[in-house]
Amino acid sequence: MEKTTTVAVDSRVEVFLHDGPKKLFIGGEFVESLSGRTFDTTNPATGEVITTVYEADKEDVSRAVEAAERALKGSWSKVTASERGKLLWKLADLMEEHAEALAQLETLDNGKPIQETRHADIPLAIDHFRYYAGWATKIHGEVIDNSAGVNLFTYTRREPVGIVGQIIPWNFPLLMATWKLGAALATGNVVILKTAEQTPLSAIYLAELIQEAGFPEGVVNIITGYGPTAGAAIVQHQRIRKVAFTGSTEVGKVIMQQASSNLKRVSLELGGKSPNIIFPDADFTKAIPGALMGIFFNQGQVCCAGSRLFVHKKVFDNVLSDMTSYASKLKQGPGMDESTRIGPLVSDKQFTRVSNYLQRGVEEGASPLTGGQPLDTNGFFIPPTIFADVQDHMSIAREEIFGPVVAAMPFDDEEHITDIIRRANDSEYGLAAGVWTTDIRKAHKVAHALEAGTVWVNCYNAFDAAVPFGGYKQSGFGREMGSYALELYTQVKSIWINLD
Ligand code: ADP
Repeated sequence: MEKTTTVAVDSRVEVFLHDGPKKLFIGGEFVESLSGRTFDTTNPATGEVITTVYEADKEDVSRAVEAAERALKGSWSKVTASERGKLLWKLADLMEEHAEALAQLETLDNGKPIQETRHADIPLAIDHFRYYAGWATKIHGEVIDNSAGVNLFTYTRREPVGIVGQIIPWNFPLLMATWKLGAALATGNVVILKTAEQTPLSAIYLAELIQEAGFPEGVVNIITGYGPTAGAAIVQHQRIRKVAFTGSTEVGKVIMQQASSNLKRVSLELGGKSPNIIFPDADFTKAIPGALMGIFFNQGQVCCAGSRLFVHKKVFDNVLSDMTSYASKLKQGPGMDESTRIGPLVSDKQFTRVSNYLQRGVEEGASPLTGGQPLDTNGFFIPPTIFADVQDHMSIAREEIFGPVVAAMPFDDEEHITDIIRRANDSEYGLAAGVWTTDIRKAHKVAHALEAGTVWVNCYNAFDAAVPFGGYKQSGFGREMGSYALELYTQVKSIWINLD
């Protein structure tokens, strides 16, 4: 029998999961939804209910806005920049103390392997708050020498936007919450954040730490609920001044339309169908594991997944054969097993969606070299799948699958990169791209020509709080992370003073 190394559930997770339905965090308190309605959250490895959470709706959003507004005009306005930084740092410290509980909750709720939550999701989330803690004291306006009058003194201030709505997806629940909260809080905004209905737990746990860190009540409000109800209420609320969204391109379009009712600022981080290009001069010891990780990390449920793999025809067969052999040995199982490298997909809905693409790929003439069939268990398992015989026009090569499925295609113009650039850019998406080559000139030329917000050369899925991330084309707009995210959460005021 295969050895399993199932993680013992942390006592803090036990307590968290068994002390009644999880409440909304509004105005510094944990409260029931006004309707009293709840919904279940399930373990994707088994399909079983983990726990129940309160379901927020429009009236809860209004209540959160009231609390946020009180904080904005009251307590939060008296907190200095340095104190804001300290609060974020304190929160990061608390997350570090609770890292194992957070990692386990994320794995239970989302399905992703504990090795990933322990070593990627949680440390990145902690680091993100520490990075923005540093920015809190560095938000400056400037003094401007104007030519309108010698005695007219002009300067600018960078002020918070005010009440901000943030809507996050289920693929990196805690990390996406921190990406949203870090820059918004460092710059002095107040927030209503809605989790994805599939994965509410780690953000509710985070809310407990926010309370413990000592943020004034109402500065951060975290609600759990569905998109078309609670999410739409955030987007339509007249006193919310900005909405930041990460999710599908389809929903991003709806949000942009609805946000126009009060001209909310909008930033959108949406879908992708990222090209990953392996040239024949690549270092294959890096390119092959890189291409595998580029698509199979987080079960392929990554907006920037390298889901269109272009491999030069000279090396296509060898690269694909190595990738296939590796992918077929990746251990798939429940995320709570330490030896698991590929977990289940997040939900039944996602399982059905990806299963349909597997079928469609075959119907369109592609051949799975490995995987291709959903597993027959109670969990939502799809094996790592590599499709060959793919044409650029097939749906598996054009549409975002959001699963562990890569469409591999050969290309053959090594010297003149025009054709592969054209094919790589032939997509409505433009989130990310990968390039594998040892020729530095080619690397830069291709990186410049790709229509994508991020290009990784000889690496993939590298992230850091200091480096901006966001899309070109229908992958969205606005940049999260780094100094760029500060733009999303501040507005500039020009002040004129007549010294006469
Ligand atoms: P998926 O289809 O993969 O679940 P979505 O883009 O639908 O991804 O969901 C991302 C986030 O957007 C979730 O928090 C979801 O609740 C929210 N959402 C979905 N529909 C809407 C909507 N109409 N308005 C606001 N938020 C929405």
